[in-house]
Amino acid sequence: MHEIVSEVLVIGAGPAGLAAAAAAADDGADVLVVDENPRPGGQIWRADRDVGVRSEAGELVTLATSLGARFLSGTAVFDAAGGRTLFAVNGHGPLALRTKRVVLALGATERQLPFPGWTLPGVFGVGGLQALGKSGLDVSTRRIAVAGSGPLLLAVAAWLERRGAKVLGVFEQAPKGDIVRFGRGLWRHPAKLMQAVHLLGSLFRVPCYHDAWPVRAEGREQVERLVLSVAGRELTLEVDYVACAFGFAPVTGLAALLGCAIEDARVQVDAFQRTSVEGVLCAGESTGIAGADCARAEGVVAGHMAAGREDLARTACRWRDRERRFGAALERTFALRDELRTLPATDTIVCRCEDVAWSALVSREDERDAKLQTRAGMGSCQGRVCGAALGFLKGWPRSRVRPPLIPVTMDVLAEVGAARHRLEESAS
Ligand SMILES: Cc1cc2nc3c(=O)[nH]c(=O)nc-3n(C[C@H](O)[C@H](O)[C@H](O)COP(=O)(O)OP(=O)(O)OC[C@H]3O[C@@H](n4cnc5c(N)ncnc54)[C@H](O)[C@@H]3O)c2cc1C
Repeated sequence: MHEIVSEVLVIGAGPAGLAAAAAAADDGADVLVVDENPRPGGQIWRADRDVGVRSEAGELVTLATSLGARFLSGTAVFDAAGGRTLFAVNGHGPLALRTKRVVLALGATERQLPFPGWTLPGVFGVGGLQALGKSGLDVSTRRIAVAGSGPLLLAVAAWLERRGAKVLGVFEQAPKGDIVRFGRGLWRHPAKLMQAVHLLGSLFRVPCYHDAWPVRAEGREQVERLVLSVAGRELTLEVDYVACAFGFAPVTGLAALLGCAIEDARVQVDAFQRTSVEGVLCAGESTGIAGADCARAEGVVAGHMAAGREDLARTACRWRDRERRFGAALERTFALRDELRTLPATDTIVCRCEDVAWSALVSREDERDAKLQTRAGMGSCQGRVCGAALGFLKGWPRSRVRPPLIPVTMDVLAEVGAARHRLEESAS
């Protein structure tokens, strides 16, 4: 198996991973950055198909590369043998990545909550619809309802309008009082206040609702109507697409596989982004949802720590702490309300991969029981979608993760098994 050795292995090339790579490379470390996406940038800096790498990401990639960092895109890490050898796969087959220190910068995924009709074609995640648009899906002239929770709704609604879509409304589940309080507190974060003003200005034609959420989507072959609850009243819209997501869920699978402590569905880190496992650091939204600026600040702290420069990491901690305060305000404001736990009807599919309905899950005790009895979470996405939903609906923490984290072919599994065996033999 092909093997690549580095001093600092950064997994994830979003704001956190790129910042970590640049910081560690600047300190003289030999850095390798691996990301499963075809291009660096993560979620927020995902470029349009014909653009290449977005400028914000490009600047950090250029900086890190000029300092000697290497980049490996289209490569997913799916298994590990201790914290020093990780296994990845790309178009050329499996790879062993040997390293001294790891920075996990795995990001977050959108949280989808199941409601009747959410599996109809034309119902997308909010970031999912944006990503499809950037990959070529034509959204112009489409009538689109944007619903769920969090500032991403406004950002994507504005982006859809710029692409010529007709956004019928932005439907935010958070209560009005919380949103007003959040808005008033933005003076402490002037750059974010400007962003919010700019976003709302660009959405002046689009009605924005609070205390609002989807109740059901209807249609024959694909979504045609969306029924919403808006401040206690029912509103029905004729739609072409629905973009819907209820905040984010931190990606923690690889951290759990490495043995890092996970609590409250996020990777636990100390003041210097160190996880509970020696030599493994974590930065960005895997440690909690606080936005791209916080991810970047955490990345700088983690990168310096991985390169052994605690003095430089300490300086970046103040920036990181300020951004975390913003993250805490986000979390308070956009906390999901209890009513959303009643969204699924008995026949609503919760696990799409294995076609498991809500009725089969309501009486299950925990995620493991649900897996054993219904196969929920055992399909090709390995619970990435339904796991986050059930975490909210049932309060279930994720159960133990097992490799491979993503589906891989039998020959890849066999090669990794043999490599693992060789490692164990040489260690004994
Ligand atoms: C779908 C989506 C769309 C978003 N759109 C916006 C937006 O328009 N505006 C905005 O302000 N914020 C947006 N956000 C939020 C924003 O992405 C985050 O605030 C920010 O990107 C977090 O940075 P990060 O570095 O922690 O994670 P990310 O940017 O998510 O980067 C994590 C990277 O890790 C990689 N990765 C994860 N696991 C593995 C693995 N096992 N092997 C290899 N690579 C791996 C992923 O491919 C990804 O590139 C979006 C989030 C999501 C989930």
